Amino acid sequence: MFIDSHAHLDASEFDGDRQAVIDRARSAGMEAVLEICGSFPEAGSFEIGLKLVEQYEFIYGAIGIHPHDAKIYNDRWEADLREWSTRPGMIGWGEIGLDYHYDHSPREVQRAVFTRQLALARERRLPIIVHSREAEEDTLAILRDEWPRELPGVMHCFTGTARMAEAAVESGFYISFSGVITFKNAGPLRELACGLPFERVLIETDSPFLAPVPHRGKRNEPVFVMEVARQLGELRGIAEEEVARITADNFRALFRLP
Ligand SMILES: [Zn+2]
Ligand SMILES: [Zn+2]
Repeated sequence: MFIDSHAHLDASEFDGDRQAVIDRARSAGMEAVLEICGSFPEAGSFEIGLKLVEQYEFIYGAIGIHPHDAKIYNDRWEADLREWSTRPGMIGWGEIGLDYHYDHSPREVQRAVFTRQLALARERRLPIIVHSREAEEDTLAILRDEWPRELPGVMHCFTGTARMAEAAVESGFYISFSGVITFKNAGPLRELACGLPFERVLIETDSPFLAPVPHRGKRNEPVFVMEVARQLGELRGIAEEEVARITADNFRALFRLP
């Protein structure tokens, strides 16, 4: 009954054993995985992601151009994204946003591409999956101007400040925690996670990156989301099954699933 709200199963790290990874998730009883298609747009990973969503009922999809790749965005990508977003099982737009830590694309290009994709998601009425790193002010400002309050979204792999989390929750967003919350030096993040309204919390792996303790340093995969649930449960004083149930309900509410 666990849901991994954010995974990149299209990444090349899974080329050797993608099927086995998916089988492990399924035989562990995972209810759903949200596949963030297009991890490496120019290496054909959209096609891999779209295929997984088509093939497996418990794998949902989201499409978008990551802020790292904002520099490749053009009308042709936009036309493809538009078409892909209408396919069955596509429930969100993302990941989109701003990353000023790596600056793989110029910041003004990141802002423009974020804004353009918000318009597309708005047009399609799809919830958004937001990636924001070292860009809190600009992320919040753009969302305030470009994203209607009645449409929801999620701040994925949250590692920001309490102020950012509160502002996001205040404007209707969900906050998703990854394996980072299990890291030794993540005390402030754990404290922040404790204080948020539980009905706005999601869990994710961001596979193949950021494997939680005790798998830290290895390739991450969707079943490891249980470690994130365990950590949140410890913090909140409840069983991990309860965390799984609540975060699954939250996921269905956000993405309007039955
Ligand atoms: Zn991200
Ligand atoms: Zn991601």
